Amino acid sequence: MPDTSAVIVAAGAGERLGVGVPKAFVELAGEPLVLRCVRVLARVVDSVVCVVAADHRERAEQLLDTAGAGDVRLAIGGETRQDSVSAGLAACPPSTRVVAVHDAARPLLSEELARRTLDALQPPWDGVAPGLPLVDTIKLVDPQGKVLRTVDRRGMWAVQTPQVFPRAVLERVHARVASDADAATDDLSLVERAGGRVRLVRGERRNLKITYPEDLALAEALLAAEPT
Ligand code: C5P
Repeated sequence: MPDTSAVIVAAGAGERLGVGVPKAFVELAGEPLVLRCVRVLARVVDSVVCVVAADHRERAEQLLDTAGAGDVRLAIGGETRQDSVSAGLAACPPSTRVVAVHDAARPLLSEELARRTLDALQPPWDGVAPGLPLVDTIKLVDPQGKVLRTVDRRGMWAVQTPQVFPRAVLERVHARVASDADAATDDLSLVERAGGRVRLVRGERRNLKITYPEDLALAEALLAAEPT
């Protein structure tokens, strides 16, 4: 496999969680979310870049020192997720050919999922991400809650991370949209918008995104139910 790096974006405020510390530093079963991601991805890729907010650099340095996870670097994030990914990309070792971008907010990713996503990055694909078919009925509503229409959910998938790309492809799209105010919420969208060929592989239900307090409780319960 070509030289691979993981960029873990952990520079968001995570205000919806309402805990006062940045989401990436919130603990799940006694371990900060970001550290759990580092631990899993360090077993799959050659190097890991962790992107944190400038204010939390010291804290992150201390945490990563204790992780003992091999080649782990720090980068300082930006105002948007896209800025943070760009900063992480710039900090990847020069030898990196393939990049896996992962949200620190998804601490329950498995090593198997990361490997399977990386393995799927074969020609002609410019990007691969895990995803799952939607299970809820989907409606488009106005700000007052009035239903405008029901969307046919067949063929609709919700997308997860890690998302993997040839480094050159991701760098090219990030350079192109650096000043784009209409920032994308994931990297696959950027590559797709630029005309790249992107695909999904089946994700994992447990690879949930910690956004609200209930998500943290659910993740704790999933971990507690695992055989040790
Ligand atoms: O805000 P949202 O939950 O979509 O953020 C997804 C991921 O992007 C989180 O892991 C968050 O830490 C990261 N992020 C970042 N820099 C930002 C905004 C979000 O690294 N400026």
